[in-house]
Amino acid sequence: MQLKRKRSIDTLAAQAGVDADRAFGSVSVPIYQTAIYRYEKFGKHRGFDYSRSENPTRQAAETALADLEGGTRGVAFSSGMAAIQAVMTLFRTGDHILCSDDLYGGTYRLFEQILKHYGLAFDYVDMGDPRAVEKRMRKKTRAVFLETPTNPLMKIADIGGVARISRKKGILSVVDNTFMSPLLQRPLALGADMVVHSATKFLGGHNDLIGGAVVTVDPDLGERMHFAQKAVGAVLSPFDSWLLLRGVKTLAVRVSRAQQNAEVIAAFLAAHPFVRKVFYPGLPGHTRRELHFSQADGPGAVISFELPRKSAVPPFLNALKTILLAESLGGVESLITHPSTMTHADIPLEEQAAVGLTPRLVRLSVGIENPDDLVTDLAQALRKAKGHR
Ligand SMILES: *Cc1c(COP(=O)(O)O)cnc(C)c1O
Repeated sequence: MQLKRKRSIDTLAAQAGVDADRAFGSVSVPIYQTAIYRYEKFGKHRGFDYSRSENPTRQAAETALADLEGGTRGVAFSSGMAAIQAVMTLFRTGDHILCSDDLYGGTYRLFEQILKHYGLAFDYVDMGDPRAVEKRMRKKTRAVFLETPTNPLMKIADIGGVARISRKKGILSVVDNTFMSPLLQRPLALGADMVVHSATKFLGGHNDLIGGAVVTVDPDLGERMHFAQKAVGAVLSPFDSWLLLRGVKTLAVRVSRAQQNAEVIAAFLAAHPFVRKVFYPGLPGHTRRELHFSQADGPGAVISFELPRKSAVPPFLNALKTILLAESLGGVESLITHPSTMTHADIPLEEQAAVGLTPRLVRLSVGIENPDDLVTDLAQALRKAKGHR
């Protein structure tokens, strides 16, 4: 079912949206800032009637994302969470979903604090071992939902292995590919049924939009996602669709540069005496590193690391000057967060501890600045944190 990609991914990204404008061939897709479309005559419109259902700018962004992920259909939402919620509309009361045990905090919050009340059941497992995943599947299991590398502990899931077992049992496999972006990892080609994205991160890439997407291979599934988009209504606006297309054009150069920077920084951190532990698939010794490189084209640009003690975290974060203390990842600016109290604050502390997420951990999303400036900034902040009592 996989559509064969005709051109390489960096070309697809650079030319995202080109040829989408049927009226004038404008290379930058116009922002169709309209809610409605005039009918030609009774019973006949020109493919668009109401922008919650379809909008040409959004459609261009959706086509671009489908192409990048190697799917047949892309559906764009007003946020990554809205995209994940749309996937969840496929399930009914009593259905069971198996998830990665180190999920993005907002996804965990949606599952545990909203969807549980509708009678969906969620379990959390290590997705790196397909046999262990299989053992946790129940009669009512309808889907597996995985992230790889996970946020923030960089655990590696076996996309192909889990997808294969799921398919055999008629269970849908859904991969949140936000951390890698389609430039580095394409789960549909590995056998997954659906990919979800927070387009806010690498796809948008400039920390200027909130968006999300679902990409599918099976056209029926794509149609159901489009139905959920229209029925629920959390659509990506025309302007944000345009920003997303604009961001996607530089995906290849941004991600490559950020990843190069991240490799330099990970090596610096790993060698630093005041850094207790570094989590980055690019470092030797990372658990399931081989598995990661069997399914991804690079280690990515997100690094988590632990300081020796919790009390060193605030002085360290406050001392950073170039690296911004802010809650996101995947943009051109380097950002740092404290997952335990920021992005993952809605996960109870005992559960954070159970998966190995400690208050000593910080997560760095490496941007495209000069790597020397980033290393210098980290070095001076580590020095200050070390001296702090
Ligand atoms: C940010 C993020 C989300 C949620 O996306 P929003 O655009 O913030 O709604 C989901 N999954 C992962 C892995 C994320 O990093």
